Amino acid sequence: MTSLDSESDLSAFRARVRGAMQHPKACPDFGAILIPALHDQARAWQATIFELGLAGLHWPVEYGGQGLSHAHSAVWFEECARAGVAPYLNLQGNILTGEAVLRSGTDEQKRRILPSILDGSALWCQLFSEPNAGSDLAGLSTSAVADGDGFVVNGQKVWSSNAQFADFGILLARTDQDQPKHRGISFFCIDMRSPGIEIRPLKQMTGDEEFCEVFMTDVLLPADTLLGPLNDGWRVAMEVLGDERGAFGTAGVISLRRRMDALAEAGRGAGPVSRDALASLMGRGSALGAMLQRVEMASAAKLLRTELETDALALEGRVAGAQAMLAGELADRMLYAPGMRIAGGSSEVQRNILGERVLGLPREPRPS
Ligand SMILES: Cc1cc2nc3c(=O)[nH]c(=O)nc-3n(C[C@H](O)[C@H](O)[C@H](O)COP(=O)(O)OP(=O)(O)OC[C@H]3O[C@@H](n4cnc5c(N)ncnc54)[C@H](O)[C@@H]3O)c2cc1C
Repeated sequence: MTSLDSESDLSAFRARVRGAMQHPKACPDFGAILIPALHDQARAWQATIFELGLAGLHWPVEYGGQGLSHAHSAVWFEECARAGVAPYLNLQGNILTGEAVLRSGTDEQKRRILPSILDGSALWCQLFSEPNAGSDLAGLSTSAVADGDGFVVNGQKVWSSNAQFADFGILLARTDQDQPKHRGISFFCIDMRSPGIEIRPLKQMTGDEEFCEVFMTDVLLPADTLLGPLNDGWRVAMEVLGDERGAFGTAGVISLRRRMDALAEAGRGAGPVSRDALASLMGRGSALGAMLQRVEMASAAKLLRTELETDALALEGRVAGAQAMLAGELADRMLYAPGMRIAGGSSEVQRNILGERVLGLPREPRPS
């Protein structure tokens, strides 16, 4: 621990963050994906976080951050979780893009990209999945062909959350067809307003349009959109997926506890069968919270959290009875929850990863 994050400094900082939670522009927490109804509020909130000097806490000052420690960032996330306030504009920009650029970007890319993430002026989306490349992401076929100083991109992406509002996107494209499939992929930071990009929102069963199909036809990318070395995009992308699956930590434990408390409240007066199911869910929640405080295991965190949340919502619906079938917040949350078991890599795929890499089980057959 440095003098910057001594206990007294961190508790003074925590008090300052708690004050910020009362700000009239504070946006309610929306989870992993920014919902369209909160788009304007979340943008204004990110601008406010920046004005308050609370954006990019552990990012270097020269890129718009506050130059503080990861411990300060953890305090921010914990207090947001406690207050039910969104910690940022969106996961795809503030965590996935921001951390990838910090790790793999040139100094010029860091100066160009990071400040506009922090002040809320740029919204980012993630252009990884394709119609034939989701779980088998390395099978992607969108191509980026070298052309002069830059690249020409052709292909289609799908399930791109927030793409219809996004200013920029992180894109995976194949830059060498002759290499084995995990190689020959490169990682780009692209302008979503480039000519040749067509975005079509998809309607979900909640009625919202959170994600989109993105079609790219002869899109010209300047050379400085390449993040990391040419043909080394798989490595950059795997680090991004680690951030996406592991974005939980102590703050996640606090949110989980809030959810469990709400569930316990909802369970008051429920019949013995539901109370039994509730007790079992609360046991799972406590075990997950304890595990996450001890070990960092992105796949386990993602799998256990999203399975628990889906089961908890199903029980909440059972306790609410017919009320859960009426249009409203609970019905929306119940319809939304199954998607979280798929986004960022499905539960089955997380089980495969845990089986192979943690438990040492034989490898699953590969699609190719
Ligand atoms: C709400 C939501 C938001 C999303 N946002 C984004 C985004 O912003 N950007 C982006 O790029 N993508 C996004 N995605 C896409 C997501 O990453 C993919 O949906 C996911 O990786 C699964 O891919 P798929 O849909 O192609 O399903 P498939 O890979 O076709 O899988 C279909 C089924 O087969 C199972 N399966 C596949 N392979 C195996 C295997 N080897 N072993 C066992 N079972 C297997 C899967 O678990 C699944 O049940 C989002 C998805 C959702 C639901």
